[in-house]
Amino acid sequence: MSEGMRYSAGVDVGSTQTKAVILDETGAIVARALTDTGAYLVRAAERAYEQALQSAGVHREQVGYVIGTGYGRFNVAFGDAQVTEIGCHAKGAWSIFPNTRTVIDIGGQDTKAIAVSDRGEVLDFAMNDKCAAGSGRFLTNSAEACGMDVSQMGEKSLTAKNPVRLSTVCTVFVESDILSYMAQGKKIDDILAGVHSAIASRTVALVRRVGSKEEVTFTGGVSRNIGMRQAIEEKLGVKINASGDSHYTGAIGAAVFALERMKAAPAAVA
Ligand code: ADP
Repeated sequence: MSEGMRYSAGVDVGSTQTKAVILDETGAIVARALTDTGAYLVRAAERAYEQALQSAGVHREQVGYVIGTGYGRFNVAFGDAQVTEIGCHAKGAWSIFPNTRTVIDIGGQDTKAIAVSDRGEVLDFAMNDKCAAGSGRFLTNSAEACGMDVSQMGEKSLTAKNPVRLSTVCTVFVESDILSYMAQGKKIDDILAGVHSAIASRTVALVRRVGSKEEVTFTGGVSRNIGMRQAIEEKLGVKINASGDSHYTGAIGAAVFALERMKAAPAAVA
């Protein structure tokens, strides 16, 4: 990396995974890092940031501004400021897909629908955060009950011929529901399709609360799941954007805010 270049960073301390992103002065992503959050949030933030710095070959002194976001944003001890994850997902989604007007963010423990302006600002939002029902945790538990990794379940669900109807979207009860379907001889892909369909229905109901203005962009770790992307598209009736960087959207939004602040007050952060 060039010596004279300055950088900004965003660190998203999520309930499940912590993400860090570094941008150069032009706004290009020069590094991403992902680590499990675990019990020690301060350490997770530090670990993700250090990994990103190393992968970019950037020294801490070259980073002019760092913003923390996510549920653990106040644990980004080296951060200059914090911004809510709702603001950062809106900004990040808009910076990847500038025509984004609705964001669907499904993380480990909650789901959010965000209405976004043509400048990437939050106009309205709705979230289901009372428990992890219908979020990433529900998917992880379902994958475990089916004996596979969360990264494989989406693809597997796509071969279903007769999806089952789940009686619950509760993270605690889904396992026994799945086991009873297995005992009845139901196929794994049909069970998984039922799991994805149940979450998609809840998600679409949430999206309807803020309106589903196009373009719709899917963010958060669950956006990596192809089965969820397709199930939501089917129920919403529109195509949704998801990029290879969707899991990093909150951290990208934080880094974009950091870059703006760094440029607005260069003397203060030099
Ligand atoms: P949080 O910000 O709340 O920590 P994330 O946005 O990081 O949550 O999303 C975590 C969730 O993403 C996990 O619960 C899991 O369901 C999902 N996930 C993570 N990696 C993958 C993957 N490779 N494929 C599919 N889903 C994934």
